[in-house]
Amino acid sequence: MSRDQTPAIVDKEAAEPAAENGDNNQEQLERIASHVRAILVELGLDLTDHNLQETDMRVAKMYDEMFHGLKEGTEPQVTTFPNEEGYSHMVMERDIPFYSMCCHHLVPFYGRAHIAYIPADRIIGLSKFARILEFYAKRPQLQERLTEQVVGYLEENLHPLGAMVVIEARHLCVEMRGVKKPGALTVTSAIRGVFHQRPVREEFLDLLRRS
Ligand SMILES: [Zn+2]
Repeated sequence: MSRDQTPAIVDKEAAEPAAENGDNNQEQLERIASHVRAILVELGLDLTDHNLQETDMRVAKMYDEMFHGLKEGTEPQVTTFPNEEGYSHMVMERDIPFYSMCCHHLVPFYGRAHIAYIPADRIIGLSKFARILEFYAKRPQLQERLTEQVVGYLEENLHPLGAMVVIEARHLCVEMRGVKKPGALTVTSAIRGVFHQRPVREEFLDLLRRS
């Protein structure tokens, strides 16, 4: 297959079952690298410069890693356990760090997430919160959508009495360009079930404030 073909045609052929996944991935990396190279050329950069010689492929590989959550089969397989203790209070994992890329500008936004739920019949291991967050963060993303997707995942897979996610993040597209407001924090929240009740939300905020 020639690399001069248009991306649409290459995509179709790459989807054929005969092609190995590894080959598909390598071909995709090379296609992305060629687009990156075109941007660098358009910007008037000298690609014979040592520091730029392999930038196209470095960026392609970086996207491959940062947008890992777009790939089929990367959704976290979260095992749930029966709630044998009959635990009926809030479970919270707070200050979980994350990095994502703003889908409007393709520059990073990053910060911390606070995730809580009140179990019904099933519980999950605490480390799983971070894996769910990571999966949805590794793609061009909106903070609002990320918040909703994490709480939605808990709702669908755990069927808790309720769940709540708060994300605090800094957006480099706000800090480095446009209105240029370094340090501004964007806070989003999403709730399900009993978290619609004010006392439950207050308990969440109470747990957040504790040092
Ligand atoms: Zn942005």
